[in-house]
Amino acid sequence: MYNSKFKIDEKVILPDSSEAAWPINVTAWQSNTGHIFLDEKVARYDGSTHSLCKRGHLSPKQGYCAECVPLNNQEEYATYPKQKWNDEPLYSMALDQWYFDKNSVIDVMRETGQSAQELMLVIGEPKNAYEIDPDEYFEEHLPDGINVPDEIAEAFNTLNDAIRNCANPLCYYPSNIAVLIEEV
Ligand SMILES: [Zn+2]
Repeated sequence: MYNSKFKIDEKVILPDSSEAAWPINVTAWQSNTGHIFLDEKVARYDGSTHSLCKRGHLSPKQGYCAECVPLNNQEEYATYPKQKWNDEPLYSMALDQWYFDKNSVIDVMRETGQSAQELMLVIGEPKNAYEIDPDEYFEEHLPDGINVPDEIAEAFNTLNDAIRNCANPLCYYPSNIAVLIEEV
């Protein structure tokens, strides 16, 4: 862009020039920690230990408001679509507990006297094992254009058949679907 070393008419200011900087009087803020800030808000934050959350609870300034966690969960749960229970495993967001059979769900509802909504029960979503591609699995060590040896590929096929046909999931994760339980 520039043909010469300096732009024509570009002003040159050296560090020791009076035009480079000059002193002014400002109010600085010293925080509770001893640090000095020009910005009042930053200083006040630095010197504080606690803050008020959006609901007005007192909480340590770093981290989250523990009192809000169940309230946030309830608000979120209220937005979930509802689905009739077909005996899937259920997770209680209120109690942080899993229930894998019908009786344990009935028991907890009777023991606590709470409804599915109060327990914030959601349907468990199964996570199945996934098939493994041997060429991808060993990709790091395979030269370009070379596949795994045939006997290994065959063994992976057998493994993948078992994975595909396995009726049991590896685990369940809580879904975003609230369960509707008609009667207990
Ligand atoms: Zn809070």
